[in-house]
Amino acid sequence: MTISRRGFLIAVVLLTFGQQGIAIAQEQKLLAVCSTTQVADFTRQVVGDRWEVQCVLAPGQDPHLYQVKPDDVKLVAQADLCLENGWHLEGKDWMQSLARDARKQVVSCIEGITPLELEESGTPYRDPHAWFSPLNAAVYVRNITKAVVEIDPDHAEEYRARATLYLSQLQTLHAWIQLQVNAIPAGQRVLVTSHDAFNYFCRQYAFRSASPSGWSTGEEIGGGITPERRRQTVESIRQHGVKAIFVETSVNPKVVRELAREAGVEIGGELYSDSMGAPGSAGETYLGMMRENVLKIVHGLR
Ligand SMILES: [Zn+2]
Repeated sequence: MTISRRGFLIAVVLLTFGQQGIAIAQEQKLLAVCSTTQVADFTRQVVGDRWEVQCVLAPGQDPHLYQVKPDDVKLVAQADLCLENGWHLEGKDWMQSLARDARKQVVSCIEGITPLELEESGTPYRDPHAWFSPLNAAVYVRNITKAVVEIDPDHAEEYRARATLYLSQLQTLHAWIQLQVNAIPAGQRVLVTSHDAFNYFCRQYAFRSASPSGWSTGEEIGGGITPERRRQTVESIRQHGVKAIFVETSVNPKVVRELAREAGVEIGGELYSDSMGAPGSAGETYLGMMRENVLKIVHGLR
């Protein structure tokens, strides 16, 4: 049996009784197309094996800078549901454009979260990296559950049951992070990374943050590396006696390496930021990426 891209036709089970064939099950899975690896993981936690979940971004890709490909257009054309992070994490709103062109519904999973409001040259914007607090991740999961139930109400109970289990795991993660970061003295809780992806984490767990490139690695207002941000970051490192700074999986490490040399600090490792890890890595799930990040941060800063 050949398997198409949609593939995953649940096997047609044919029982033959003499001359009579009876098709017992023939079902094509619903398809969710997600923009980011985190949104895809949350969606998988809710739909289990009942849906096929595809992700536009591959592990390690940067959502701010992503350029849409012809294959993405084909994929979204087959989607039963499109899901994005939202608040312009997807640079120039590429997921919304893909969905609009294919006349598909797109759900912004971030809606309902209390935003970190930032401002640059008088222009306000909302920080889109909300998943870095597990309490916000719970909002993503609730939004996804609602959207999935609307499309397939016959299996609502099943989706809600999976969501309940996962929400309790997010609560456990949150409590575990609080315990872990207690090992870092308050004055040493300064998280320096490639770009400002960790503001929600920092707000939740009482860290200061600094980065040379603002909230986006792209050219948006408030994003991109500027000499001023670079200078302030080095100043923060020196002022707070930061022991280690961190590179990110989805961002070129060059600038952070330069800053580490300039400020005379160590690189504390690579954090999963806008992208989770490759299949088989510890960071291939949200719970895994948060766990690995926290262990590296605690090891580097305490
Ligand atoms: Zn980012």
